[in-house]
This record gives sequence, C-alpha cells and structure tokens, in this order.
Amino acid sequence: MMFDQLAGAISSVVKEFGPRQRITEEGIKPALRSVRRALLDADVNIDVADALIDGVRKRSLGEEVIKGVTAEQQFVKAMYDELVDMMGGDSEATPLMAVEMIGIKTNAPASTLAVGQPGDPVVVLLAGLQGAGKTTAAGKLALYLKEREVDYSVEVESDKPIMINDLPKRNRKVLLAAADVYRPAAITQLEILGKSVGVEVFSMGTDTDPVDIAQAALEKAKAEGFDTLIVDTAGRQVIDDNLMAELQRIQKTVKPDETLLVVDAMTGQEAASLTAAFDSAVGLTGAILTKMDGDSRGGAAVSVRGVSGKPIKFIGVGERTVDLEPFYPDRMASRILGMGDVLSIVEKASAALSTEDAARMTEKAKNAQFDFDDFLQQANAVKNMGSLGKMAKMMPGMNGMISDEQLVTAEKRLKKNEAMIQCMTTEERGNPDLFIRDKSSRERIQRLADESGYSTTEIRQFISEFQKMRTMMSRMTKSAGAMNPDSDEE
Ligand code: GDP
Repeated sequence: MMFDQLAGAISSVVKEFGPRQRITEEGIKPALRSVRRALLDADVNIDVADALIDGVRKRSLGEEVIKGVTAEQQFVKAMYDELVDMMGGDSEATPLMAVEMIGIKTNAPASTLAVGQPGDPVVVLLAGLQGAGKTTAAGKLALYLKEREVDYSVEVESDKPIMINDLPKRNRKVLLAAADVYRPAAITQLEILGKSVGVEVFSMGTDTDPVDIAQAALEKAKAEGFDTLIVDTAGRQVIDDNLMAELQRIQKTVKPDETLLVVDAMTGQEAASLTAAFDSAVGLTGAILTKMDGDSRGGAAVSVRGVSGKPIKFIGVGERTVDLEPFYPDRMASRILGMGDVLSIVEKASAALSTEDAARMTEKAKNAQFDFDDFLQQANAVKNMGSLGKMAKMMPGMNGMISDEQLVTAEKRLKKNEAMIQCMTTEERGNPDLFIRDKSSRERIQRLADESGYSTTEIRQFISEFQKMRTMMSRMTKSAGAMNPDSDEE
C-alpha cells in the first residue's frame, strides 16, 4: 500500500517517546520535526503539512493526561484526529454523493428521491485530465451504484471474474453517457465497460457536440426511468480554457448534482492543486482519487481536501471495475498511521458473506466474540476475493513489511491455521477461550498437535495471535462505531 513509507516514518518517531507519560512543549519538538519531514517526503502539500503539525502540537499539549495513557499513545491519537479532520472529518459528516443522500443507504426506490424534481435522475458529471482514469471511473461508479444483474460473458481486462453478487446492492438504474468525443477510443472503451457491468451506454459518435450528447442522454434517462445519469466528459493533456468552457456548458445543460474530478494519486500534491483549479473554474462537489493501488506516497490523499476544500469521495484501487472504494477519512488515517485497516478487511470479507452472516460477524467482532468458525469463514471469503496480498497489506502491523516472499509465507500460514482449526471440536471452534483459560487447555493443545501434525509451540503461537487479532478487531470496530455509528450498515 501507498503509505508504507509515511507509516514507517511516523511509527519510528512515535517509538522515540518511550515510556514517558507526559508530552511537553520541548519534548514534542523533535517528533513534530520528523513527522513534518515524513509528510513532505510523502509529497504532502507544505501548507497542509504545516497545518497538520500545528494541529498535532496543540492537540497533544492540550490533551489532558489520562492515567495509563502513554505519551506515545497520546501523540498517535492527536495525529489520527488531525489526519481525520484534514481529510474531511467523520465519514458520517460527508455523504458520499448526492445519490447517497437520497436513498442508496436505505435502498429507497427512485420515486422517493429528494434531490431535483420528482422523477428527475441524479446527474453525475465526471471531469479530469487524460489518463487520470476517468472513463474507468465512470464504469466503476456505474457498477457501484447499479442494480445487481450483470452479464458475465463480457469481461474487460480482468484475470478474475467480477464477483458482482458480493457487492452491496444500491439499486440504482444507471445510464452512462459517452460525451468524450475527442478520443474516439473513449466511446468504445465506455461501451465495453458498460457491457461488462451491465449498464446501458448512450453515445452519439464523435461528430456531435458533447453538450448535445449530454442533453439527449438526460432526456433519454428521464423518458426511460433511469434514476442516475453518469456523464463521461473529455479529458485534456493539461488544463485549458476550452475544456473548462465545455464543462461549464454541459453543467448548464444537465445541472449535475455531482461534479467529480477524477485525479491520479500518483501525481501526489499535484492532484490537490488540480482539484483546486478545476473547482475554481467549474465548481466541484468532490474528487475521485485513482491509482491508490500504485506506489505513490500518499501526498494526494492527505492534501486534496486541505488545498481545494473539496472532499475525496471515492478511491480507485485497481484496474478492474470492482476496484472502487468509498473514501473514509477515519479509515484512511488509520492506514496512514500504520494501524492497518481492520474495518476495510472486515467489510470486504463481509461483502463476500450473506447479509445475516456479515452482521453477525461484525457484532461478534465488536464484542470480542469472534471465534474459530468465523475465522474459517472469513479466510474462505478472503480466498474467494482473490488477492491475499492486497488484504494482507491492510492488516495491522503488516504495513510496509510485506514482500512477495512473505506473502507466500502468509498464504502457507493461513493454510496451516485452517488445518489446525479443522482438527478442533465444534465446541472448541465456538469457544477459543477453551485454549487459554480452561484447565484442559494443555491437553487440548496436545491433542491438536497430535492430530494436525504441528508442534504444540506452533499451535500456541496461533492461539495467541488469534487472541490478539480478536482484541484488535474489537477495539477497531468499537472506536469506528463510536465515530461512525452507521459504519457497519454501509
Ligand atoms: P481517462 O483518459 O481519464 O479516461 O483514463 P482511463 O480510464 O482510460 O484510464 C487510464 C489508465 O489508467 C487505464 O490503463 C486504466 O486501466 C488505468 N486505471 C484507471 N484507474 C485505475 C486505478 O485505480 N488503479 C490502476 N492501477 N489503474 C487504473
């Protein structure tokens, strides 16, 4: 993941606090200097970095010293809070999109929508420079919002089938409009993407004014009961006045509820200034930050909001149409701090489970009741989703320490753990504490060793890791729940 370096730098600064209990003005200076350097190295905009550092200083000094909380923990908490604020505050405070406000979460039918006139589709306009990933984002967004049916026979540039049934259902009836007439391939690309996700694409070739295309698409959407229209507009190599003028004309015609800028995270803080520039020319409601799976250093994610005042609403994390995630400042902050992103994992794994199973699991995780059966179920879900690598990099403590070799080891370990669990009795699987508190735990571990062929040390190690994971999951789901009470319904 992209934050490895930044996370590494921050965690080494934090360690320097040692066991001290108090943060003092003098004591905090070197840490702040190092964090500032780490932020700038990660290509965070300098004003944003300075504001962050100032905020962290004020927060850490102002914070009342709570008994039992170390200076280190206090500093991390201050960093976390500042990062969350800088990236847009609690997830709850920023609805992802206009469409989100009007029923995605509740799956309310289009007829009950509150934005625009009754029956009017929600219009999402996508803008961006060439190569940012705009057309891809249009397809991803359509899939994110759509009803669930999909044509499996059409698949674009993907080595794995899209697991459409594993995605949350948003129930939008989406129409995609191809208004990028300058790059003929863009229309074909959108048509292929549309087919692959089962969403209709409206196009009029390359000889029509994009404004007329957008207008005609809107009329079609209204006439045929589409509740969401996504317009893919033309990109340019660089910002130019013609591009902005065209966007303005399209805006005037279709009156979008959302104008989202698609920007490439690999450009670092450039992404932030670009967002500001587009915003002052055409007025944005937010940004989609693409290529977050690449090896950019994180500057874009941290800077966009601070520089442009506009929230990041989604991130692109790969080339496939399923590789789009809502942007949650709180979760991103924990990734940046190397706290891993347990919630994203829980959520991803949950998406591969049935709704009842997922709700049950989140509840169990919260109450530290997660058991070996749940572990097996999640391990299977993770396997079904493909890349263990992507998941592993989001695991707490694993940030920045994963090589391909280690991944192979991790997969082997997962297999080993599964084998151990399979040798457990039903009672043991449902009650992990039998291996620690119970008097019989020694015999149980010995029996497992005999049956599975692993040593008692290996088994003890797994049990202890499992307990740690359980505590961590409970802590993360609880703290996220406190900040964002709806997060597990997302
Ligand atoms: P456009 O010119 O802005 O419409 O850009 P495209 O949608 O054609 O995307 C340009 C390239 O970036 C394509 O090769 C996409 O597959 C790739 N791309 C788009 N989004 C992502 C992403 O989130 N991650 C990665 N790795 N590649 C992406």
